[in-house]
Amino acid sequence: MSKVLIIGCGGVASVAIHKCCQVPEVFTEICIASRTKAKCDKLAAELAPKTTTKITTAQVDADHVDEVIALIKSYQPDLVMNIALPYQDLTIMDACLACGVNYMDTANYEPENTDDPQWRAIYEKRCKEAGFSAYFDYSWQWAYAKKFEEAGLTALLGSGFDPGVTQAYCAYAKKHEFDTIDTIDILDCNGGDHGYAFATNFNPEINLREVSAPGSYWENGHWVEIPAMSIKREYNFDQVGQKDMYLLHHEEIESLAKNIPEAKRIRFFMTFGQSYLDHMRCLEDVGMLSTTPVNFNGQEIVPIQFLKALLPDPASLGPRTKGKTNIGCIFTGKKDGKEKTYYIYNVCDHQECYKEVGSQAISYTTGVPAMCGALMLLTGKWTTKGVHTVEEFDPDPYLDALDKYGLPRSESHAPALVD
Ligand code: NDP
Repeated sequence: MSKVLIIGCGGVASVAIHKCCQVPEVFTEICIASRTKAKCDKLAAELAPKTTTKITTAQVDADHVDEVIALIKSYQPDLVMNIALPYQDLTIMDACLACGVNYMDTANYEPENTDDPQWRAIYEKRCKEAGFSAYFDYSWQWAYAKKFEEAGLTALLGSGFDPGVTQAYCAYAKKHEFDTIDTIDILDCNGGDHGYAFATNFNPEINLREVSAPGSYWENGHWVEIPAMSIKREYNFDQVGQKDMYLLHHEEIESLAKNIPEAKRIRFFMTFGQSYLDHMRCLEDVGMLSTTPVNFNGQEIVPIQFLKALLPDPASLGPRTKGKTNIGCIFTGKKDGKEKTYYIYNVCDHQECYKEVGSQAISYTTGVPAMCGALMLLTGKWTTKGVHTVEEFDPDPYLDALDKYGLPRSESHAPALVD
C-alpha cells in the first residue's frame, strides 16, 4: 500500500509506469509528473482501464526545487522516483530532503550546462585528482550521504540496467560465487536493428555525450583513460551472435571500485555498429555534439539539443526494432582457494517488450529495474539509510523481482573471457 511520485514520462519512465501498474498491491497510487503534462495524461488514460493502481498526473519543472517541494507536499508520496534526466538529480534530492521522502533514480548527476564556471572548476579539479574526465560522477550525490542518513532517509542511485542490475550481478557474484573477485567485465550488447542509419536508443543528448567521451577503466587502484572508442573487442553473445564492442567509461565502475575494493580491474564494453560510429564521428567533427550554445539567426541554440530535435524520438523505435539485447557481467576470481570464472546476464527481445509495454528493449531493460528498485524500498527489503548504489544492498530479492517481472537472469560457469 504505497503512494509514489514518478517524475519524468519519457521512454524509460513509460516502461517503469507500466510495470508499477502491474503490481497494484504495492503501487496503490502513483502520480506521473513531468515538464509536459500532456504526455502524462496520455499514458494515464491508456493505463487506467488496465490497472487498479490509482493514477493522477501533474505538471512540474524539476529544475526548480520549489516546484518539486510544492508537488511533494501536496501529493504526500512514500517515495519519489526520478526518471527524468540526470540534470534534475540534485534538485529532486534537495526536495526529497526538504520533505522527508525517500528518493531513487536511474543515472548519476551531470550538469546540463558544462560551461558553467562554478561547476567547471570543481570538474577540472576532479579530473586531475581522480584521473577520468567524464562529465558525470558520483561525487555530487555522495555528498548528500550524511544529510540523508541524518534525516533517516534512503536515496537509491542508478536503478536501471547499467548502472543498476549490473551492480546487483556484482553483489550476487560476491555473495554466492566468489570469496574474492579479481576482474569484472560488464558487457552491454544491443543486437537490435531499427532500420534507421542513425538513431539513439535513449535520450540522444545523454547517450551521445556518454559515447563520445574518452573511455576509461579501473586497474590496480586507479583510472586508466583512453581516447574514445580506441579499445575494440569482439564477443560472441548468447542469442545475439558475434558483435564488435568498445571500451567506454561508465558510471558504475566508480562505485564498484569503491565497494568491491579487491577487484584489480573493472571494464565496461558496449557494442556499436559501423554505421552508428561513422555518423557519430561525423556529427562530432562538425560540432553537432557540442553543449556550448551558438548564436544562429539571432537565436541561441545548443547544437546537441538541435540534433535531438532532428533524430527519431527513441520512444518511436519500439515498433521498428527487431532483435535482442544481452547485458551482463563476466567475473574472474577465487572460491575456496581455486580460480574460477562466472558470467551472469539477461537476454531481452525488443519485439516481446514492444508487445508487452509498447517500448523497445533499451527502455524496457531500464524501466523494469527502476520499478524493482522502488519495490525493494517500498516493501522494506532495502532499508539502509543514506545515499547508496545498488551493489550495496542484498541482491537476492532484487534479482528475484527482475526474474519475475521480465528480466530473468542466465548464467555460465565457463564463459569465454575478454582479453
Ligand atoms: P527521455 O528524454 O525519453 O525522457 C525524459 C523525461 O524527463 C521526459 O518526460 C521529459 O519531459 C522529462 N523531463 C526533462 N526535463 C525535465 C524537467 N526539468 N522537469 C520535469 N521533467 C523533465 O529520457 P529516457 O526515458 O530515455 O531516460 C530517462 C533516464 O533514464 C535518464 O536519466 C537516462 O540517463 C536514464 N537511463 C538509464 C539507463 C540505465 O541503464 N541505468 C539506460 C537508459 C537511460 P518532456 O517530455 O517535457 O521532455
